Amino acid sequence: MATTSAHDIAAGVAAGKISARTVVDEHLARIDARENDIHAFNLVTADAARTHADQIDADVKAGRPVGPLAGVPIALKDNLCTHGVDTTCSSRILQGWKPPYDATVVSRLRAAGAVVVGKTNLDEFAMGSSTENSAFGPTRNPLDISRVPGGSSGGSAAAVAAGFSSVSLGSDTGGSIRQPAAMCGVVGVKPTYGMVSRYGLVAYASSLDQIGPFATNVADAALVTEVIAGHDPMDSTSIPQPVPSLVSAVTQGVAGMRIGRVTDLPSGAEPEVVAQLDAAFAALAAAGATIVDVTLPSLSYALTAYYIIAPAEASSNLARFDGVRYGLRVPAVDTNAMYGATRAAGFGDEVKRRIMLGTYALSAGYYDAYYGKALKVRRLIANDFNKAYESVDTILMPTSPVVAFPFGDKADDPMSMYLCDIYTIPTNLAGHAAMSVPFGTGAHGLPVGIQVLAPALGEVAMFRVGGALEIAAGSQS
Ligand code: GLN
Repeated sequence: MATTSAHDIAAGVAAGKISARTVVDEHLARIDARENDIHAFNLVTADAARTHADQIDADVKAGRPVGPLAGVPIALKDNLCTHGVDTTCSSRILQGWKPPYDATVVSRLRAAGAVVVGKTNLDEFAMGSSTENSAFGPTRNPLDISRVPGGSSGGSAAAVAAGFSSVSLGSDTGGSIRQPAAMCGVVGVKPTYGMVSRYGLVAYASSLDQIGPFATNVADAALVTEVIAGHDPMDSTSIPQPVPSLVSAVTQGVAGMRIGRVTDLPSGAEPEVVAQLDAAFAALAAAGATIVDVTLPSLSYALTAYYIIAPAEASSNLARFDGVRYGLRVPAVDTNAMYGATRAAGFGDEVKRRIMLGTYALSAGYYDAYYGKALKVRRLIANDFNKAYESVDTILMPTSPVVAFPFGDKADDPMSMYLCDIYTIPTNLAGHAAMSVPFGTGAHGLPVGIQVLAPALGEVAMFRVGGALEIAAGSQS
């Protein structure tokens, strides 16, 4: 298969060695060949992609400057607003809605020369860990189509793993970039909260949501992060600071770095996953890092706190989908009946479950007992991390306790599904950065992801460790 490395494509296109059109056509051909089996996309924007690619080729020919992602095919999670192009969040309630504007990340990618090839499938409103909660049917894991790709950004992970796009974007509220990256054997990054603008991301839980990239290699993930990061006045939580060079961090090595091993990590990871984590520590030590034991005592409460805070915010954010302004409207005798009928028909079971959980947790008499308590746990978790980061630069843990599982395995048991995110959720609660790097295989020969966690704005340290892990993983196989 022709290269799908974003660095290689952009360099080749800018130098006039390959045409953006050829690159895009190659990726569209792969989509034609396998998309029926995988279902990574809700929408493939082939015509628009070809037109954009032709424009880039014309710019190159005319000697006009092209961006750092010139001609790089990218897929966008279908909860990112695209001007005039369906944005469904894989929900019936938004079917047919065309946003009147582009998300900030989308404008930045286009300006950098990336070519959007389509909108990818997700768990409805990004609620889930397997992409089985999509109203439009599940996405299948390209490595084994009898298994899930993880979620909620399963379509974006699968698109990169199948070579449908060079890179893609997802959103991560509790692990939705890192966990599917791990399950599909690709790199996934959740940047520090506030590093990437959320303007134009359909909100799930606004205090936790971050946008980030999927890529086949760590350097490409760093490049896309650089392009989409940076202050945006349209997002009040955007950090007004310049973005450091992340691509150059990838090859800096880990000599002299201190890497934390969590001695009280919540259990539950498959033995093969634990074995790969041990191998990752050994590889980093061999590369010159020092492994330091740390404790994170509040981590075992993270899942519980998350499943109060995220649904609470979701119940408020999703109140806007009422049949008045967006998408679906089910007519009824009066306005209240119309709201009820629209929401009953438009939302799937998991979304309804979250709205009910969140509304209950926020209701008078329970607010302090549930939501207030969860916020206190959130503070304790951030305190634990900050204490650990006094003695280490990054922390290593598994991304997912399990490798990709078969369809239906956890669909009837929400708790077992929620447990998939036990190692990813704490980072979102703390607002910190983390990434998943493929590192060897586990049960059934399926990929394992190792997670590199870093403090807020610790992306340089994170990418240094990510780069070293990638090298070690390459020499392991
Ligand atoms: N699986 C988690 C949830 O269902 C995380 C989802 C996400 O990060 N968007 O909430």
